[in-house]
Amino acid sequence: MVKELLENALDAGATRIEVTVAGAGIDLIRVVDDGHGIPPQQLPLAFERHATSKLRAARELPGVRSYGFRGEALPSVAAVAEIDCLSRTPERALGARLRIQHGRPAPLEPAGAPLGTTVEARDLFARQPARRKFLAGARGERAAIARVCAEAALARPDVALHLRAEGRAVLSTGGEGERRAVLRALWGLEPAETALSFSGARPEAGLRLTGLAAPPQHHRGRRDALRLFVNARPVTSRRLNYAVEEAYRELLPAGRHPLAVCFLEAEPGRVDVNVHPTKAQVKLADEDAAFSLIQRTLRAALLQAAGPRPLDPSPFTAAAAPAAAAFPLPAPSDPPGPEAAALRRATTAATPVAGAGAGAATALAPSPSPPPTPAPPAIPPLRALGQVGATFLVAEGPDALYLIDQHGAHERVLYERLLAAPAGPEARQPLLDPPLLELSAEQAAALAGHEAALTALGFELEPFGERTLRLRALPACWAPGDARSALLALLDDLAGPDRVPERHDPVAASAACHAAVRAGQRLEPLELRALLRDLERCLNPHTCPHGRPTLLRLSNQDLARRFLRR
Ligand code: ADP
Ligand code: MG
Repeated sequence: MVKELLENALDAGATRIEVTVAGAGIDLIRVVDDGHGIPPQQLPLAFERHATSKLRAARELPGVRSYGFRGEALPSVAAVAEIDCLSRTPERALGARLRIQHGRPAPLEPAGAPLGTTVEARDLFARQPARRKFLAGARGERAAIARVCAEAALARPDVALHLRAEGRAVLSTGGEGERRAVLRALWGLEPAETALSFSGARPEAGLRLTGLAAPPQHHRGRRDALRLFVNARPVTSRRLNYAVEEAYRELLPAGRHPLAVCFLEAEPGRVDVNVHPTKAQVKLADEDAAFSLIQRTLRAALLQAAGPRPLDPSPFTAAAAPAAAAFPLPAPSDPPGPEAAALRRATTAATPVAGAGAGAATALAPSPSPPPTPAPPAIPPLRALGQVGATFLVAEGPDALYLIDQHGAHERVLYERLLAAPAGPEARQPLLDPPLLELSAEQAAALAGHEAALTALGFELEPFGERTLRLRALPACWAPGDARSALLALLDDLAGPDRVPERHDPVAASAACHAAVRAGQRLEPLELRALLRDLERCLNPHTCPHGRPTLLRLSNQDLARRFLRR
């Protein structure tokens, strides 16, 4: 109900809207706007069914930007609540008041009124006790009203919007584009303050995009912090929501969802909002273009801003500093030094990682993730200092101390290498003594389901009896030593319940995991250095393919502060 009244106020061109609710909206909903008002003779009509003033415009102009044009909102409200509506148009000095009680309009009265419209609905469903039961309960109703108002404030940052509930100010914007302030109410302080703003356009498709997205260290168990607006209207679109989730791919832990709002502007005529009665869904002329615009713009912004996680997750330091730009690019064409050779003993490195994301990955039909221009390395050159507990690496950067998870870091390196590996024989290392593997039923099923992806990664598997196969070749970056059990573990992974086989990435992620050095494995100094160098060259060095962090950062400043040196 609040939603419909808000929409009417916005349709009337209001620049300031006040919403007051009491008793969770059951006792009172009052919406005051400073819009163009309703002329007195039309006031009673507005509460009659299908008496919309917008229908013609809507039919004749498919791109019209009004929210409601079915002429049902006011009559529906009048049918279930006691109404007091006061309105004045700019041409008149005096306004008019219409009361509707028990569904019956009283005679229209002239009344002094500020410019605009006030609609007051009291005692909701007093006459429909059965419907009253369907309300979500006071807390639920209050939350729903707050969400509707917050969404309106996000959609229309140019309108000053105030919500008072039960005598308290719940939301208040000044009409000066304070989307971040609204997000604070929805997401909490830190995600809202550190949210990245992004923008992009597809002029040929008539699309423009802006938005705000929390950095990946913030996530939710549900998708409800992900909101989409098309032409300033909140809409739901599973496909476009998925574009946002794709942009966060590998940056979030499995099963978690991002906090992001996207505002898509489509030229009139490129969007049809009438596919759904409440217009919660839209049909875009070029949904593919919208999908890739969202996915790429947001992905680029996230990678660009990715800064290492600070050791002490104090607010505002996480992704705020675009540290990457300040550091010189390590020359990607450096000949691989002795360090690289050393790590190859363990992993047989093949393709250099720099420049990954280019055409190389075509055979994998990869996610459209990396933006067309290679992102700058997001971590500076690191000097290896040593290993802790045979699990973590310690390193020094230009202005900070880094702790690195050796398994996660190596997983990341191998993962990007797998995705960048060209298809064909050079991606494979043939095994001189191809082992035989006996598979469980689940492993055999997993293999059947992912055979093409595994082949594309460089595995060559030859059937040898019903559930037996011969492993003829491995991806070039896999260590041959323990290939047999690593492949079986990989198949177990792929057989797991939560595999989404729509892309090859999970296969590559598992493949990387089972080939990567383990926690507890001692690394030679040369191996250690090689791993850091490889990590520096990754497109996204901050997380392993499963979304866990690979490194922690403690700045020299922080160190000084902790030792009370300043
Ligand atoms: P709809 O919005 O679908 O046209 P409603 O029942 O919501 O139908 O409103 C009926 C009509 O009343 C609108 O078409 C509009 O002309 C008028 N109206 C309603 N609310 C306002 C308002 N806040 N300011 C100006 N006109 C309004
Ligand atoms: Mg309406």
